[in-house]
Amino acid sequence: MSPHRPPRAGCITLGAALSIACVLLGGLIATTADAQRRGVAPIRVVRPDPAESERLTPVVIDNVRYLSTNDLARIFGATKYWRPEIQKLSLRMGTHTIRFTVGAPVILVDEEARNLVAPVILVHGVVHAPEAILELLFSWGLVPDATYDGDTRVIRYRVEPHSIRQAQLYTRDRVTEVVASLGRSLPTRVLYATPTELRVLFEGGTLDSARVFSGGVVADGWMRETAGGVECRLGLTEDARGYTINVTNNRLKISLTYDRGLVDAGIFTRLEPLALGSIPGRVRTIVIDPGHGGSDTGSPLPGGQVEKDVALEIARALRSALQSRTQARIVLTRDGDVDVSSDRRAAIANGAKADLYLSIHLDNEGVVRGGGFRVLSYQSITENSEAPIVVGDGNVALPMPAWRGAQSPFAGTSLALAEGVARALRQVFPATPTVTEAGRLETLQSVACPALLLESAPTARTGPEASSPRGYTIYDYTQTVARAVDEFVRGYRGI
Ligand SMILES: [Zn+2]
Repeated sequence: MSPHRPPRAGCITLGAALSIACVLLGGLIATTADAQRRGVAPIRVVRPDPAESERLTPVVIDNVRYLSTNDLARIFGATKYWRPEIQKLSLRMGTHTIRFTVGAPVILVDEEARNLVAPVILVHGVVHAPEAILELLFSWGLVPDATYDGDTRVIRYRVEPHSIRQAQLYTRDRVTEVVASLGRSLPTRVLYATPTELRVLFEGGTLDSARVFSGGVVADGWMRETAGGVECRLGLTEDARGYTINVTNNRLKISLTYDRGLVDAGIFTRLEPLALGSIPGRVRTIVIDPGHGGSDTGSPLPGGQVEKDVALEIARALRSALQSRTQARIVLTRDGDVDVSSDRRAAIANGAKADLYLSIHLDNEGVVRGGGFRVLSYQSITENSEAPIVVGDGNVALPMPAWRGAQSPFAGTSLALAEGVARALRQVFPATPTVTEAGRLETLQSVACPALLLESAPTARTGPEASSPRGYTIYDYTQTVARAVDEFVRGYRGI
């Protein structure tokens, strides 16, 4: 405990009461406060960057040290709301609100009353609170990035505070909100917003701890760190209709509503199914890309096979499956054992004005090794990002010069389609691990339509009935992918 600790709450001296009266009466106290500012040891605020470190000098009124709420707002990155007509001030710190009333020796923290050692006062028109409020703020955990030592009177910020903190879900009247405190501004990207799911990426952000959410129109959701930053993914209930995202200097808020009126009024953005094709619900051309070919054999597979041959077999089976379900023209980037460059594959798709591009590969690594599926889509990330970059089959991660390819505008739709295909695979093959991944895929970056790279496990023999280590056949696999694509095209809501 500090030897300089001021008197306990409730022990207001007559002098203090008179001083407060003077302050309230017309600012006469200002001269006294200025006089008493000298000789008071400042509080040191130590930041990781020494250039940003500073000192706070309290004013002393009748032996009580007071700190300006302007100073508190500045050092804690809080937002201040002052309502002079009722002499009340609110400080918004992350997801917490502290309310001060001039003349009251009490503050409200998130509606809960806490005693102060002396009343809140006005000095030069600025609300001041007793310095002892610092120990209260820290002991209540309102300043997670810093510590306070009352004996040495030093506030010490930790190195590199997380940029997103204290994320919480609130259900209000017609609105469900995910609110978090922001340490710095972050590029915000809505990956997609469909009636079933809202997915938002805060690029380059870091998170204090992973969260899960449910309540209101959020059936299940989470916020966690991913390769590109911090991602928030909210699975929505059937009655969700609209969303808004609001990011200020120190706070982010994702709001959802079931109220059609708020959507019709333009206050919320409508959640709409993502459509493939130039005419919604109608896909004219699908390009299937059997990976590798010719001198590029791809991965060696068990049983002496090579990836290029089985990929072609899967591509042909997928062509049949899609032809039986859709009216689309199906184009293969190769229909034989020939060399085709990545650029040439993209050129074939773009030249055919493809509405959808599906690249077929097999793998012998990771989740796929044990017989699983990996559904990959392209995700561009900011140039200074340290996120791993996936090249080719996803087996190699190495940095590539960043540039925004033709695929960038379709990344959201591609990601949503990837989730749809993965969901269908999980339904049909519940015992088979299925993962989705997004990254800078070289093979997709120049394709100018929604695009996926589908990886499955090698089969032990050839033919549509050939089965993987998990027992699924090429026929079952391609039928499932075709069904998922068809449902996506028709705006299926999913589960
Ligand atoms: Zn491959």
